[in-house]
Amino acid sequence: MTVMMRAARMHEVGRTMRLDQIARPVADTTDVVVEVKACGMVPNLGNVLANWPTWYPHMPLPSLPAIFGLDPAGVVCEVGKKVIGIEPGDRVYVSPVRSCGCCQSCLTGQRTQCRYMTFNGYFGFQKESQVLYDQYPQGGFCEFMSAPQYSIVKLPDNVSFREATRLGYWGTAYSALKKAGSLAGRSLLINGISGTLGLGATLIALGRGAARIYGTGRNMALLERVKALAPERIEIFSTESGSVADWVKSRTDGRGCDVMLDTLGAVASLEAFDDAMHGVRRGGTIINIGGTAGKLPIDLKWLMDEQMTLIGSVWFTTAEGCELAQMMASRIVDMSILEHEVYSLGDINAAISSVGTGNGGFSNYLVEP
Ligand SMILES: [Zn+2]
Repeated sequence: MTVMMRAARMHEVGRTMRLDQIARPVADTTDVVVEVKACGMVPNLGNVLANWPTWYPHMPLPSLPAIFGLDPAGVVCEVGKKVIGIEPGDRVYVSPVRSCGCCQSCLTGQRTQCRYMTFNGYFGFQKESQVLYDQYPQGGFCEFMSAPQYSIVKLPDNVSFREATRLGYWGTAYSALKKAGSLAGRSLLINGISGTLGLGATLIALGRGAARIYGTGRNMALLERVKALAPERIEIFSTESGSVADWVKSRTDGRGCDVMLDTLGAVASLEAFDDAMHGVRRGGTIINIGGTAGKLPIDLKWLMDEQMTLIGSVWFTTAEGCELAQMMASRIVDMSILEHEVYSLGDINAAISSVGTGNGGFSNYLVEP
């Protein structure tokens, strides 16, 4: 007899989700089934659901009706015959990265570089993504989801399911900052410091020994809250009061900072990125994990003369997710600053329209089935 479950599904782009009864998944060979306890919602979710097919037609959504949900955490309830080391009862976060598993990128652990890379329950990066959506049809907005064993991050006992739903965006910030090398004693500009990505980057950079963090944003009250996390090490600046590059240089004797991380959202201006990256010193590193879209004219002579490094970074490896979970457990990354905004699965449409209305990165929107 088929066992059923509740799932919130989108039947038509731009329309509200419907709560459906569908078959509960079973665990295939190297897959596990997770009983979802919480699923996070990032500020970009509304864009993906309503605008992605228009904005980025080369990045397909799953065929409809579809179960979305990027950042699920829960308890393993069933494991496939060939799963080793993961057992029913394990508390886990499920990374949404799906990939082929057998190309050179996947075999070296760099699944986000696989040509088939797809965000389960979110969007894909190329037309072949539907193959992976078909293999893993459940995002986190349902009661049970199947997931490959390679996607599983085990949660330490003192990391709650609600906190774990932040592993996605904070893992993204963690992986990006690792690409900049050691931060110990160095300076970092975070463009958009009070948002979901920026706040995580701040805590991680503090934990990794950054001596100085320069943070920008528009909401002064939120900027002040970020500064209060480490007043001796964080300086803040409203983007409405002038050039970010000029400000950073004025704080560094004209030299500029060592590293810049851009976290601005999908509707940010190219000018904002261009301005901020010129606050980086000669030989410095510029990393983009934000949603700014479009072609930015870059002076190649400047890039060479100043020996600049420009990096794009997407998501993180499951191993990096495990590292961050341990940093959360030991409170190197302190999750207690989060204010959880919790919705039931039945209230998912209200949840989706609420995301982004709270206190920037401090507000953690999630659905609990
Ligand atoms: Zn691959």
